[in-house]
Amino acid sequence: MDTGHHESMSLREGIDRMVDRAALAIGLNPETANVIQSCNAVIQLKFPVCIDSKVEVFTGWWAIHSAHRLPAKGGLRFAPVVSQDETEGLAALMSYKCAIADVPFGGAKGGLLINPGNYTEEQLREIVRQFTIELARRDFINPATNVPAPDLGTSAREMAWIADTYKTLFPDDLNRDACVTGKPLERGGVAGRTEATGKGVQYALQEFFRHADLVAGAGLRDGLASQRIVIQGLGNVGYHTAKYLAEEDGCSIVAIIEHDGVVVNDNGLNVHDVRQYLAETGGLKGFTGGGYSTQGELALEMECDILIPAALESQIHAGNAMRIQTKLIVEAANGPITYQADEILRERGITILPDIYVNAGGVTVSYFEWTRNLSHMRFGRLQRRLDELRGSNYLSALETLTEKEVPDKLRREIMRGANELDLIRSGLDDTMRMAFRDILDMLRNNAHINDYRTAAYAIAINKLAQSYYELGLAVRKDS
Ligand code: GLU
Repeated sequence: MDTGHHESMSLREGIDRMVDRAALAIGLNPETANVIQSCNAVIQLKFPVCIDSKVEVFTGWWAIHSAHRLPAKGGLRFAPVVSQDETEGLAALMSYKCAIADVPFGGAKGGLLINPGNYTEEQLREIVRQFTIELARRDFINPATNVPAPDLGTSAREMAWIADTYKTLFPDDLNRDACVTGKPLERGGVAGRTEATGKGVQYALQEFFRHADLVAGAGLRDGLASQRIVIQGLGNVGYHTAKYLAEEDGCSIVAIIEHDGVVVNDNGLNVHDVRQYLAETGGLKGFTGGGYSTQGELALEMECDILIPAALESQIHAGNAMRIQTKLIVEAANGPITYQADEILRERGITILPDIYVNAGGVTVSYFEWTRNLSHMRFGRLQRRLDELRGSNYLSALETLTEKEVPDKLRREIMRGANELDLIRSGLDDTMRMAFRDILDMLRNNAHINDYRTAAYAIAINKLAQSYYELGLAVRKDS
């Protein structure tokens, strides 16, 4: 996949420019904008690990963009291309994302320069353990201050290793499970976290399609069903996004782009089959459920209704933005559109739902997991049976008064008490709906804002500015 080498601006610089644009639109003092943009702290670690009786030195970062709320929260990325600048940029996105989703965290991000595919499971475990120890020694991992989560190249498995290492170091910390989120269920994780980002993307799209005027404004026909979607990246986020949109909303996934090319099927691909094929063979080549081509990058330019970049940053850049032919871009990845491409696409009237809103589902459910860890109790444990009892009393009253029987399916629905997954999904759906409505309010009430990204940034920086004013760290002299 392309990494946006068409531009000189880095990811972090591009994000700063997006902040500048929103600050100007809401008349925020540039000094305050500068306070908001600054990455509060970043640590670089170089640590040795013995691999196959040879000592290798690994380089990693943890960047805290904002600590106005604690803990600072963000994913831990394992990839052969990570840098301090990128980590700082991604940490900034986390601050804005948390503000929009109304999650009371600061923003952070971690990165480790590694190609995980080059190591065995045991070796990776050793590397993760050492990385955790290095972070913990400097208090850069702690349930109260810094809480990592999965990101590119990491999953529940790595989170379990981190939690276990932290527990070994601090066995008397009652809240030790909350030092990391995205853990497996049997290790203090929460139902629905793995698919949370993808589910959140689905909820974001469902919410967008509840507004017929906005849908028409984007040049799309009404209704999510049968929209033709191209998706880039079938990792955790892309897979769940595509799966839910196809299975539950009736969308047609006409192309899936991966690292070795693209598969296209005008009648809609079977997402599950593609994922399975990828897992078995490591690529798309040879997949028979659609036409294969090595030209993955070109497929971004395919004519379609909705384009969902769900892989790496800077995939849509100054070099291809002119040729993008979709009507709506939904940013499931972090920073998939560069600043310059964003300007071009805006000019061309292509609608964009921005990353800091669209992919906030992951950190939202991380927030639920963190609070569950602090409460030491599964959601719904206290009220589930009471809900069932209420439902059953309500049913009896209804049937007695009407002298009619409620049909079986409805009866089951009324009597069912919410389990943990129901509650998590309900909280996530609510978060995505409320955040969208905030964005829409901003868009409608500010004459200088006419795109979703600027509206989302305006909300985020407004919230950050408020908390800096309260702390006396910024001066209210906005125009
Ligand atoms: N890595 C995810 C993100 O970029 C999740 C972060 C979290 O849950 O803290 O939003």
